[in-house]
Amino acid sequence: MGRLDERVAIVTGGARGIGAAVARLLAAEGAAVVVADILEPEGRGLAAELGGRSRYRFLDVTGEDGWQRTVAETERELGPVSVLVNNAGIAAWGSMEEEPLTSFRRVIDVNLQGPWLGMRAVAPSLRRAGGGAIVNISSLAGLTSYAGIGSYAASKWGLRGLTKTAALELAPDGIRVCSVHPGAIRTDMTAGFGDAYTAGQPLPRFGEPEEVARMVLFIVVDATFSTGAEFVLDGGILAGRPAVLTSGDPDLG
Ligand code: NAD
Repeated sequence: MGRLDERVAIVTGGARGIGAAVARLLAAEGAAVVVADILEPEGRGLAAELGGRSRYRFLDVTGEDGWQRTVAETERELGPVSVLVNNAGIAAWGSMEEEPLTSFRRVIDVNLQGPWLGMRAVAPSLRRAGGGAIVNISSLAGLTSYAGIGSYAASKWGLRGLTKTAALELAPDGIRVCSVHPGAIRTDMTAGFGDAYTAGQPLPRFGEPEEVARMVLFIVVDATFSTGAEFVLDGGILAGRPAVLTSGDPDLG
């Protein structure tokens, strides 16, 4: 028996990467998963692999009509939604002065407006389900930042704040809303990054999509006293700087 039997989940950006790992794990726990993505062949392929009542739906998270249609069809075919994972996201690189306005707007549209539309569209269904959980995939860049990712950091900090507002507004209906903050995870988004990128971390490696998926499952199933909370998996980066002085160094005094 799975821990999500009879439950219905929507995972945006579920066709590949972190979203696909989340979809696989929720389905393995018995949920009917709607893989909602703009990548049709990959999404259909994954839904076929998941089997059961899981299915693919084309959804561009930036459009309100698409969200309304996706939620209505899901509820008609599978029943009310009790889990929403706002995972779809894009990254853009370039300094604040270099990044074109079109790129800035696109990143905010997908990474921040998308989850905002999603939570608004799904909230009534979550109420009809008698409550549930929303997990917003933010980033380590939603807790700190790096040079050259201004629009991405702005979108992920925004999503972290929006998560807290949603948590406060939806708590009376038994709906918990939390944010997840991954560091470097090995997916298409980080395909060009070499091992040097993670070398200075306390845990000097890329995380795997499955590690993020396990945290999402924990939030949905086990973290029943957590809402508006931030869940970090960053290989230890936020713990601080790796040691620069040791007891043998004269400068320690
Ligand atoms: P990915 O590029 O492999 O997957 C992103 C998915 O989102 C793709 O399937 C893509 O088609 C989908 N998507 C993009 N725009 C969409 C839209 N408008 N509507 C619907 N779907 C859309 O990337 P990933 O690494 O799996 O990223 C998943 C999430 O995790 C993103 O929100 C990302 O910002 C976040 N994240 C990733 C990392 C990392 O290191 N990979 C770190 C922190 C946070």
